[in-house]
Parts: sequence; structure tokens; C-alpha cells
Amino acid sequence: MPTPAIEPTEACALALDRADPLAAFRDRFYLPPGIIYLDGNSLGLLSRDAEAALLQTLEDWKGRAIAGWFEGPRPWLGTAREIGALAAGMMGAAPDEVVHTATTTVNIHALMASFYRPEGRRVKILADALNFPTDIYALRGQLRLRGRDPGRDLALVPSVDGRTLDEERIAAMLTEEVALAWLPSVLYRSGQLLDMAFLTARAHERGVLVGFDCSHSAGIVPHELDRWGVDCAAWCSYKYLNGGPGASAFLYVNRRHFDREPLLAGWFGNRPETMFDMALDFEPAPDAGRWQISSPAVLGSSTLRGSLAMIEEAGIEAVRRKSLAMTAYLVALLDEHLAAPPYSFRVGTPREDSRRGGHVAVERDEGAERVCEALIARGVVPDFRPPNVIRLCPSPLYGTFHEIWRTAGHLQAIIDGGEYRPGS
Ligand SMILES: *Cc1c(COP(=O)(O)O)cnc(C)c1O
Repeated sequence: MPTPAIEPTEACALALDRADPLAAFRDRFYLPPGIIYLDGNSLGLLSRDAEAALLQTLEDWKGRAIAGWFEGPRPWLGTAREIGALAAGMMGAAPDEVVHTATTTVNIHALMASFYRPEGRRVKILADALNFPTDIYALRGQLRLRGRDPGRDLALVPSVDGRTLDEERIAAMLTEEVALAWLPSVLYRSGQLLDMAFLTARAHERGVLVGFDCSHSAGIVPHELDRWGVDCAAWCSYKYLNGGPGASAFLYVNRRHFDREPLLAGWFGNRPETMFDMALDFEPAPDAGRWQISSPAVLGSSTLRGSLAMIEEAGIEAVRRKSLAMTAYLVALLDEHLAAPPYSFRVGTPREDSRRGGHVAVERDEGAERVCEALIARGVVPDFRPPNVIRLCPSPLYGTFHEIWRTAGHLQAIIDGGEYRPGS
């Protein structure tokens, strides 16, 4: 069926839902009853597939006890590599370049410990002023651990408009004083998708290593980490990857860096063949597995077997196509019905498909947080990011276009009825 053209009408939503090749995935998720869930970029929903995978691990533990580490179809010792490999394809990486381990912030520390090597004049880390706070905290901590002054050695690319970053401006700051750039793939507030291929090429021209935090793009945007030549990356698994609260995260190391020393070393980073020799000499594994620190969080990782397989089955390209159609439709509704006063909503996300991640940042100067609360009271779950951003994230695997239409109707009614005013 050809994809219907995007128009700001209810008929368009119904036509898009009828033509949706991913529609059947919705029934495999646990949708909170009566709720329009637009917060999959904070916490993706539980699928029956993820649930079954977790229950299987509980059965394995029940039945095998300690032998579960070594025996059965999925020995727990191999969890980090096995689940890393499941995510590799959608990230454009080889299976041995991705491990599923620790948490995002810990992985950023583990990567920085190996990749940040201040030398001569090259002592700075380049990041950006719109980054997720945890990334900045980690970078500052790493600088201090090396005896450096974050005030001097952490350079932050300023935003042009408080929402977005200009890639040319980032490139211009890749000077001979920068050792490493750590950047987001998609900005968590505005939803801008950065041009990772361009930034990697510019960084390498200037002799700068580059890593990306892909937490807001993994599972919703196809990546080509190898082809772009990215040096390292980390991302979480509970947003678009639907791994569940606190599920372990991922890290990627380009194979040309497999010989770097994992300085946040731990026994799970040892070569698997000799780790149980319990020798005091650390023999790092020959792949990205060497950046593992501890035993895998087997229970909280098992969900990923189910949820990643669903994304594979849908195809990351199809997921991206539907996601772009959903956000384009939402933007069209906002422009057509909700931009003029008294509604006064603004789209803070870039409009070009190539610059948009998976969510839309809806801005309103007055009462944005209370509009958000009024949406929740009406059974729509968005989230709020201060000072004035309502993030709406339609999920390609479990959301529908008609839900987006209804959400726009709720926004209109909230303003019409003054529900966002204090005391209402
Ligand atoms: C969600 C997210 C994180 C999460 O960090 P945790 O250590 O998993 O809590 C980190 N960075 C970015 C950019 C994120 O979007």
C-alpha cells in the first residue's frame, strides 16, 4: 500500500494507520489501559516478548542454579556479548564491537578512561552546552581524575538558539587543543539529530577522537558506527530499546581500538578462556568485551533478548520510516491547529527529516508544565523538560497515528478550557 501524504486531518491519521506495516506489533505490548503513551523516549513499554525472555531466565535460574552461568542455550557468562551482538546490526557495528554491560554513565566513564589521553597541547574534551547532565558530570570527573581543571579543559559548544547545535560550529571548535569529542546523537530536549558522519569526519581530519552518546537514537534511528568511523559510543537500553527500568546499557568500541587498555578494569573484561584461572595478571579480552567490569546484570538484561528481536523483526529502517511519519504528522497538526494564539504552541525540533530524532519538543512560553499535567490528567503521557518543553514521543512499535490526532485535540481542549491556568 502506498504511504498516504501527510495532512493535518483525522482522515489522514486513519489512512496512515490502515497503511501501517508495523501495526501488528502493538498487540505484543502491554499498553497501560486507557492511556496514550508518548513517553517511550524516557521509558519504553514492556512487550510480551521481553516478558517471556525474562521469565525464561528465571526458569533457568530455578532449574540450573550455578550451572546457569555455563550451561544451557544462553549461558549467563556470555550475556554481555550475546546481547551486545543482538544490538550490533541496528547500530552498524560488528558483533564483537558491542557489549551489553553496566549502565550508560558507567560506560561513559569506562570509555573515557581509555580514550581520553591528554598529551602535549591536546588536553581538552569537547562536549556541548545542551548535553544530558550525567554526561557532563562524567566528563568533568574524568578530567579531575587526571588532575586537570574542567573549567579550562572541558570546552562546551554553545547552542545557537537554546535548542539546537550547529555542526559547523562544533567542527570549528575541533582545534589542536582537543583530544576527544563526546557528543550526543540526538539532543534529549529538542530532539535534534546531529550529523554523526560529518562530525566524525571533521574530528578525524583534525586528529580528534570522537564518541557519541546514542541513548536518544538507539532503536529509533539507523546508525552506521563502523562506516562513519566513530571511535566509541555508549547508549542506554530502557528508552527506544524497551529493555525496562534499570536494564543494563551498551558500549561500542571500534575494532581499531581493541588494543586500548581498559583502565576501569574488572574481571569480566579478562579473556573468557582464562578468567577462571583467577590469576592476578589481567589479560584483557581481544574485543569490546574487555570494557566489561563486573558480572552481567543477567535478570535485567534478559528482557533485551525479546525487545531487540522485535526491532530486528520490524527492521530499523521501517521503524525509522514510521517514526518520521509520526513526528511529521504531529508537527503538521501543531502548525495547522495549535500554533496561533490562544494556543501558542511552538515546535522546537528541527523540521528536516535528517535532523529529527524520535520525539517532538513542543514549546509554550506560558504554563507548559501545567499543560503537561493537564495532558496526564486526560490520559496522555508526555514528559516535561524545564523550562518550557513538553516532549511528545509517538512509538512506531506500539503507537498509532490516531493517538497523535487525539493528543492534538487534548492540547486544544486544555487551552480552550483554561485547564492549564493556576487553580483550575
Ligand atoms: C538516558 C540517558 C542517560 C542515562 O544514563 P544512566 O547512566 O543509564 O542513568 C545518559 N545519557 C543520555 C544522553 C541519556 O539520554
